[in-house]
Amino acid sequence: MSAVPYLYKAPTRKPTSEQALVSVIIPFFNEMDVLAICHERVCRALDALGQHCEILYIDDGSTDLSWRLVTRFNHPMHQVRCLRFSRNFGKEAATSAGLKAATARCVILLDADLQDPPECIKEMVQAWRNGAHVVEMQRKARHGENFLKRFSARLFYKLMSKMSDQPITENVGDFRLLDEKVVSVINQLPERTRFMKGLLAWPGFQRTILQFDRDPRLAGSTKWNYSKLIHLALEGITSFSTKPLRWATTAGVLTSLSAFVMALIIFTKTLLWGDPVTGYPSTMLMILFLGGIQLLSIGVLGEYVGRLFIESKQRPLYVLMEESFSHPTCTHQEL
Ligand code: UDP
Ligand code: MG
Repeated sequence: MSAVPYLYKAPTRKPTSEQALVSVIIPFFNEMDVLAICHERVCRALDALGQHCEILYIDDGSTDLSWRLVTRFNHPMHQVRCLRFSRNFGKEAATSAGLKAATARCVILLDADLQDPPECIKEMVQAWRNGAHVVEMQRKARHGENFLKRFSARLFYKLMSKMSDQPITENVGDFRLLDEKVVSVINQLPERTRFMKGLLAWPGFQRTILQFDRDPRLAGSTKWNYSKLIHLALEGITSFSTKPLRWATTAGVLTSLSAFVMALIIFTKTLLWGDPVTGYPSTMLMILFLGGIQLLSIGVLGEYVGRLFIESKQRPLYVLMEESFSHPTCTHQEL
C-alpha cells in the first residue's frame, strides 16, 4: 500500500516483449448508452492490429450504470482495465489518470461517445510506426455542432494560438496518439490546472497531422455548456500564457501616453486662446474609460493570483475509489 492512498501508482512495466502495443484511454461520465458499442468498435479496431493491446476506461464519477457495464467488459487478446474516481473530477483529470496508468508503447485518447471514430486507430498506429511521436487528429468537418459552437471553437483556437508560446493546431481535440516517451514527459508536468490541449502540445517531439470526419454524438448529451467552455478557455489562457498581463501593462502605458498628449493639447489651447476648460461629458468618459481599464487589469491579475492559490494547495488531481482488471485470458463473466 502506498503512503498516499489516493495517488495512483502505475503497475510496474512488463518486459518489452510483453508490453502492449497500444493503450486506448477512454474517459467517461454517465455514458451507459454508448459504452457497449464503443467497446465493440474499439475492440474491432484493435483486433485489426493483430497485437496485444490495452483498453483503459476511466469512470469520472458516473452516477448511472456505466461502471457496472465497463467492469464486465473483457477480450480474449486485449487487457481491459477500469479506474473509478470517487466523484466527477472532469475530463482533464480522467485523461491524466489514464496517461499515468497506461503501460503500452503508445497511447490513444478517445471519447466514449464515439465522436472520435475508433476505425482511425489503424491509420494512427501506422503513422506512429513511420516515426511520428505524436499523431494529431484534425477535424475536417464538425457534424452535429451548431453555428455558435463552431464559431466559438474557431475563436478559441485563434485566441490560443495568439497567446500560447507553443503552437496549438487548430481543430485538434484530445483525440490523438502519443508515444510512451511523450506520455512520460506529460506525466512529469506537475500543475493542477490541467489544460490538456496545452499540456499535450508542450513536450514537442515529431508530429504528424491526420484528418478525419468528426461524427455527431452517438447517444446521450454533451457534458459541456457555454459557461464550462468559457471557464475552460480562461483556464487555458491563464495557465499557459502570461500575455494578458503584458497586454494590461501595454494598455496602461498607452492610456497614460494619451492622457499626457491630451493634457498638452488642453494646456496649449488654454494658454494660446484662453479657452475655458469645457466638457462634463468628456470628463465622465475619461473616468469611465480609465475605471474600465483598471478593473479589467485587476481582473486579469486576479485570474493569475487565483491560479497560484490553487496550485499552492498541492491537492491531488483526482481520488481513485476502485480499480477493476480483466486479464486477456479471463473468460466472460455472467452479468
Ligand atoms: N467526460 C468526462 N468527464 C466530464 C465530462 C465529460 O469524462 O466531466 C467525457 C465524456 O463522457 C466523453 C468525453 O469526456 O467521453 C467528451 O465529452 P463530451 O462528449 O460531453 O464533450 P464534447 O464532445 O461535446 O466536447
Ligand atoms: Mg462528445
